[in-house]
Amino acid sequence: MRGVVMYAPGDVRVEDREKPTITRPTDAVIRIAATCICGSDLWPYRGANEVDHDPMGHEYVGIVEEIGADVTTVKVGDFVVGSFMASDNTCEICQAGYQSRCVHVVPMGAFGTQAEYSLIPHADGTLVATPGQPDADLIPSLLAASDVLGTGWFAAVAAEVGPGKTVAVVGDGAVGLLGILAARELGAERIIAMSRHADRQALAREFGATDIVEERGDEGVARIKELTNGLGAHSVIEAVGTQESMMQAIRATRPGGHVGYVGVSHDVALPGEELFFSGVHLHGGPAPVRRFLPELIQLIWDRKIDPGKVFDLTLPLEDAAEGYRAMDERRATKVLLTV
Ligand SMILES: [Zn+2]
Repeated sequence: MRGVVMYAPGDVRVEDREKPTITRPTDAVIRIAATCICGSDLWPYRGANEVDHDPMGHEYVGIVEEIGADVTTVKVGDFVVGSFMASDNTCEICQAGYQSRCVHVVPMGAFGTQAEYSLIPHADGTLVATPGQPDADLIPSLLAASDVLGTGWFAAVAAEVGPGKTVAVVGDGAVGLLGILAARELGAERIIAMSRHADRQALAREFGATDIVEERGDEGVARIKELTNGLGAHSVIEAVGTQESMMQAIRATRPGGHVGYVGVSHDVALPGEELFFSGVHLHGGPAPVRRFLPELIQLIWDRKIDPGKVFDLTLPLEDAAEGYRAMDERRATKVLLTV
């Protein structure tokens, strides 16, 4: 089968890889219908994470091709969505809603879903079948549920977004934009998007942002305070993962407020004394997307939300290298790869 391999930073190739086969009775193999390039794939692409001939990709939707003997919740031919973390969905951590930290977790990046097929460990716990075969125009939104929508949704839940709340969103990538959509769906009264890109501001407004703040860092924090009677937002979504974005999120939150942080942390160190006196709640980490998948799939199926709009470039799998370049150069927010 064809699949994406990152040889080294900046060196992405599509080549023949071995088609996966069932190795355990709890596995499934799916034929990928669509996959995509994640903002987090840019960390190794830019040399911030080590990479050496690694298969790439952890987002996927597809059709079940083969199931192991113990798989009962999905069958061959089902259209399925799964999280970027495979989980059993039965251990205590899963049952508490933290499937991304399942005691048997398997990161899907290990298999590389930017390919024609993927192995899915813990198929019963990981995969959720859609109510039927989706119309083609629903596939981008279902694919978004696999990571960026589920992650933005978790960030909003972790930030305790709800009716009457003012929400600020740090980061205007796909996750930040879908955090805005989640905040709207969860009933936020006011949603402040922090963005300085006109096209992303437009999508932010379409997803529900009521205000745009272009300033960053201390100036951005000052603008949030101006908009909130000097108090800061009730809920802040952090969707970048840098020292600057994390401190911006904490400082833009009012005492007693909540930060939901989902940007993959890179060299972030929190100053204890400032954290102590901030009085904010911090909650985040790798999003337990599986917790939200049934609800998100239904919202998409009923055409109540359209998160697939974050994909602004669609390319065939064979052109994945161009997709990485486009995201690296910020010519694209998120790239969908057709298979
Ligand atoms: Zn588990």
